[in-house]
Amino acid sequence: MKNAKASAATEKSPRARASAAHRHAASPEAALALADAYCRKRGEKLTPIRRKVLELLLNSGRATKAYSLLDEMREIHPGSAPPTVYRALDFLLSAGLVHRIESINAFTVCHDLTHCQHGMLVVCQQCGSVTELHQPKLREALIAQVEDAGYRLAGEEIELKGLCAACQAAQAAAG
Ligand SMILES: [Zn+2]
Ligand SMILES: [Zn+2]
Repeated sequence: MKNAKASAATEKSPRARASAAHRHAASPEAALALADAYCRKRGEKLTPIRRKVLELLLNSGRATKAYSLLDEMREIHPGSAPPTVYRALDFLLSAGLVHRIESINAFTVCHDLTHCQHGMLVVCQQCGSVTELHQPKLREALIAQVEDAGYRLAGEEIELKGLCAACQAAQAAAG
């Protein structure tokens, strides 16, 4: 195999959390402030519940299922009802702050909280880590090809199923 490096065995445990490169460069606080300003500019409000759901997603750093978000909300606000969390997610989706990851039925924060230029999502099917590739030309070319073939994409998202580096290493170590 092409990447069989003998010295790779000395690397630290592959289970040691997914690459920090997948996370936002900015701190969650900075990201929340950006999102807040972005909503205000659009004449919308990042209400406390919307903000909390976004914060939970920022802190998770990977795609998270709605019921996990609900569980976390209930730890903070014991009375949280599912519709409250779902409505907050709907808002965040429509504002473009969050992506729905269909292949694993989960949600993740957009890598580009304010510019509304969505990339292509690469989703680890094992751990839910998501990387958003920001390649506008490639994205346009792909969409053009799809349209040339007579199709229109169902929705904005372009989602590629993958296995992240940490999960590949874990799999190699287990095998
Ligand atoms: Zn995005
Ligand atoms: Zn993974």
